[in-house]
Amino acid sequence: LDPVVRTTVPATLNTRVPLVTGETVEYANLDHAASAPCLAAVRDAVDEFLPWYASVHRGAGFASQVSTKVYERARDALRRFVDARSSDAVIFTRNTTDSLNLLARAVPRHTSVVLFDTEHHAALLPWRGPNVRRIATPRTRLAAVSAVDSALAECPEGPRLVVLTGASNVTGELLPVREIAAVARKHGARIALDGAQLAPHRRISLRELDVDYVAVSGHKLYAPFGAGALVGRADWLRAAAPYLAGGGATKNVTEGGVVWHSGEERHEAGSPNTVGVYALGVACEQLSADWSAVTAHEEELLGRLRRGLAAVPGLSELRLFDDDGDRVGTVSFVVEGYEPGWLAAVLSAEYGIGVRDGAFCAHIATRRLTGGQAALRVSLGLGTTAEHVDRLALALRQITARGARWTYGKPDGRWAP
Ligand code: PMP
Repeated sequence: LDPVVRTTVPATLNTRVPLVTGETVEYANLDHAASAPCLAAVRDAVDEFLPWYASVHRGAGFASQVSTKVYERARDALRRFVDARSSDAVIFTRNTTDSLNLLARAVPRHTSVVLFDTEHHAALLPWRGPNVRRIATPRTRLAAVSAVDSALAECPEGPRLVVLTGASNVTGELLPVREIAAVARKHGARIALDGAQLAPHRRISLRELDVDYVAVSGHKLYAPFGAGALVGRADWLRAAAPYLAGGGATKNVTEGGVVWHSGEERHEAGSPNTVGVYALGVACEQLSADWSAVTAHEEELLGRLRRGLAAVPGLSELRLFDDDGDRVGTVSFVVEGYEPGWLAAVLSAEYGIGVRDGAFCAHIATRRLTGGQAALRVSLGLGTTAEHVDRLALALRQITARGARWTYGKPDGRWAP
């Protein structure tokens, strides 16, 4: 169960899918932003671990000892993955949504929360109360930084938190995290990063960014579903009521009361997802072994994708910001005259290409950027090849050349052949 060190872009599991014609093709998974296919190394590691999983922290048996060891080693892997401070807590959760909800329950009462309204619903919705300030996302990054500055200046005295995504799940654009963190500091505010979309593409350093919390999902980091993490300052987490009440979170239970743990276990009640956490830790180690290979692979394919999309008539890309800035390999667009759901169905049925259509759990952002209800999203990752990208560009040219006259039905509210 020792971690394997790699020096190239890690391989993902590939599949073949049936087309409407009956033939099969290699699946062009262009939906990494939703969930990334498992790394081959993660599959192998999980396979090796499966005979060993057992209850962690509460068993003397050999398998329990092995499980406890790899579970805690995954905690260290997460700490390294986001370059956390040694005093930060690493709490295992189900995913980013779970992590941000946990944080929302853990912040002190009357905390003022400042965030942009184009955030993913996982970051937008957990915050309640009169002190939540949603800013309409400005059209430039510079204006975004000053909007946070002004919003924080108007907050009442007391704890303050800025919640911000690292990379937009709609447009792939990076947010000015470092600059916003500096503004937050100026006002004595903390900052929580929704790392769901940034973490699979860029090294995150809590120390260098001066960010207090980050939330990530294993299934976006090339590990299977069910494990995620919240990493960050331990004090609020230690003081908060346990996220879940139950075994594992307690030090002592008597007839008269409960003494809860003050460490990470406080928020990890119940038997944890040991296999998922192990897989997440291995995925983090694999990804961070060579960030330059990961980014070079994606940047080359993103350039190729954007050149390909530029040749599709009537296609317009969605952008949050008018100024140019760094971005990950996620591109959303609309094609004039074509419903995104229909296009997605044709791409799947006739070309074996998986993309996402809809509003991407960011309804405000999608409505504002399209003027409608939906768009099509293409998102690249380690499993993407030049052939996948070229197939998509060719498919969109062919579909738009023949017009929207192919017959697809909508049996369950979704387009299908
Ligand atoms: N934030 C962003 C930016 C996302 O893209 C997603 C997933 N689409 C989430 C949060 C939520 O992630 P999960 O569904 O894994 O909780």
